[in-house]
Amino acid sequence: MEKQGQRCNRLVLVPCPFQGHINPMLQLGAILHSKGFSITIAHTQFNSLDPSNHPNFTFQSIQDGLSDYDASMDSIALIETLNINLVFPLQESLARMMKQDEKKERIACVIYDAAMYKAEAAANYLKLPTIVLVTCSIASRLTHVTYPQLQAEGYIPPKDSMLQDLVPGLHPFRFKDLTIFNLPNLEASLQLIATTSKIRTSSAIICNTVDCLEQPFLAQLKKQYQVPIFPMGPFHKIALPSSSSLLKEDTSCITWLDKQAPNSVIYVSIGSAASIDERELIETAWGLANSKQPFLWVIRPGSVRGLGWQELLPEGFKKAVEERGCIVEWAPQKEVLAHVAVGGFWSHCGWNSTLESICEGSPMICQPCFGDQRMNARYVSHVWRVGLELDKELERREIERTIRRLMAGKECEEMRQRTMDMKVKVELSIGEGGSSYNSLNDLVEHICHSDC
Ligand code: UDP
Repeated sequence: MEKQGQRCNRLVLVPCPFQGHINPMLQLGAILHSKGFSITIAHTQFNSLDPSNHPNFTFQSIQDGLSDYDASMDSIALIETLNINLVFPLQESLARMMKQDEKKERIACVIYDAAMYKAEAAANYLKLPTIVLVTCSIASRLTHVTYPQLQAEGYIPPKDSMLQDLVPGLHPFRFKDLTIFNLPNLEASLQLIATTSKIRTSSAIICNTVDCLEQPFLAQLKKQYQVPIFPMGPFHKIALPSSSSLLKEDTSCITWLDKQAPNSVIYVSIGSAASIDERELIETAWGLANSKQPFLWVIRPGSVRGLGWQELLPEGFKKAVEERGCIVEWAPQKEVLAHVAVGGFWSHCGWNSTLESICEGSPMICQPCFGDQRMNARYVSHVWRVGLELDKELERREIERTIRRLMAGKECEEMRQRTMDMKVKVELSIGEGGSSYNSLNDLVEHICHSDC
């Protein structure tokens, strides 16, 4: 890390400003900080973080020109706008850092979220090396690089008659599991996916995954890219615990969990971006109430389309569940999943939630909504067989039945056992000599030998 008397050990991290992307990037920062690097987080003003929660990092606020941000902007337009607006402010910020750091330490590398692809151009202009962080599963990344071929072969857009069919070369995924299924703006999505799948001049790819979870896909992905790939997750289990929540965590649910019997509670959350409608809220409420199972339900503000959720909860629901249910707007999820009272996770199957659930040996009910969630759900339910898919329209009796299957009986025991086996394998991967442990050390070597 030493060059002409200067320490070449500053890493600049560029997260994509959404919760499911911020968490792994900040965890990666904590991991690399523990390896002796100085960490600067170059963060957009949009969804900005509180630096006081991260005393080990330096923060650089990047002007994103979104002061008149229109909340109705779709996510593709938002990501593209963020990228376009990012280049020059990031470039200026990096140039300033290079000047300030001249005497003490130099920037070894810029690590950017694959969705913040323009960070590569900013770094490249200043001749700084870059590495890409992929925050989704390898499986989903692999399908992204396969889309051009599938499109050329006439499989995209998939016809309705094909939706249940397996995608050639991508078993066990069906066409309906693909990230592009049911998208309102297919062409724009394919274009963005193609852009974010390229690594351009970046020298490596870091993945928040574990070799033992995604071995076959990892081998295929390595063939696609000509650069080293470092699968070194799950980050949240390697980094020291910290919170990068954009919403305030309601810790009262932990006090409530403390009063519940071991493995009795089903934890319900659809993450930071998915939403349901009023009918789905009502069916979920009655499904939970009728299952007679204690539950902790996160209803994020804005996650129910229409009115606020308090007004929409059905008459009689609160009386029916009384002390058996706890509802919060945002939970300390990792702490919740690690709690002895939690026996199952009804999830939208975002990649972070999937990893967090596996790491606590918690089987899942999969209710994927969009993007890579359907692929993660397919893996959880059909390959790892540690979850049950809620495949059809949300309906209270089906919900009640699925909760019962997840939380008690032979099927539950078998799923719990398989989840515990996976948890153990993941723990071995992050321990000394394990695949993620070795990958992290390889990454540190790679950065230290980058041409900074
Ligand atoms: N999360 C949380 N509290 C909640 C719900 C979610 O802290 O009440 C965290 C969760 O632990 C995970 C992230 O938010 O790290 C969500 O990421 P994920 O990839 O699961 O889904 P996304 O929100 O991106 O759809």
